[in-house]
Amino acid sequence: MRVFIVSDMEGVAGISNWQQVSGGESLYEEGRKLYTEEINAAVRGARAAGATEIVVMDCHGAGKGWSFNSLIPEDLDEGCEFVVQKEWTEYTGVLEDGCDAALFVGMHAMAGTSDGFMTHTVSGTEWRSVRFNGTEVGETGINAALCGTWGCPVLLVTGDQAACREGRELLGAGLATVQVKTALGRFSGRHRTPAVARRMIEEGARAALADLKAVPPYDPGKPCEVQVELATPDHAEQFRHHPLVEILDGRTIASKADDWWTAWRQFYFSYRWPD
Ligand SMILES: [Zn+2]
Repeated sequence: MRVFIVSDMEGVAGISNWQQVSGGESLYEEGRKLYTEEINAAVRGARAAGATEIVVMDCHGAGKGWSFNSLIPEDLDEGCEFVVQKEWTEYTGVLEDGCDAALFVGMHAMAGTSDGFMTHTVSGTEWRSVRFNGTEVGETGINAALCGTWGCPVLLVTGDQAACREGRELLGAGLATVQVKTALGRFSGRHRTPAVARRMIEEGARAALADLKAVPPYDPGKPCEVQVELATPDHAEQFRHHPLVEILDGRTIASKADDWWTAWRQFYFSYRWPD
């Protein structure tokens, strides 16, 4: 069994603020440690369920040299391999090889959610919302669509209550969730201790992988339109002469294609973040 672990930092137990997830900040090393150990818990759970190949992909943009590179390699369980990307949705190798299931660890809820830790969608400052065929999605939706492109189902989401709820609403009641903390607002809440959270994730991963058909692979629909509402109109201007991306109103761009992956790629890989 081949398992893909897609991970983010904001949904890890013990993590409450940007200082713990931003490269070079005083609390970042603490955040990395908490993050790496939750990933190890998922790796142990996957192995207990019979996984023979486990690939971990860090999707957290910590900034500086740490973007998509927040895991502490030295501390990672030797039962996995890990991917360091240069940009989001760049790596698809394990999916192309044929992947039985994906587990999403440390997720946070989409931009605008009021009861989630550090809620945002891709960028807290530059992006306001993302829609696939009219349905608003967060990062769980984006990563689930990536997995679904190669027929890989997402069987587990871990994070706070808002991230778990968002996962179930999008992917269905068959999705297993592990809630490791309860957010009050964007930077406050009640946490399980790290040791307890790790036990919950290990067991949750093992149990989720017992039924590979519990959740169908996510497909936003065919054809597919990806809409992104950006923070400001100047930011949309980069697409004014793009042949495949439309500017809908001052700051919303749309990319349409026969399927999600084509629609996503034709805007995302030509997207330039503002200086
Ligand atoms: Zn993140």
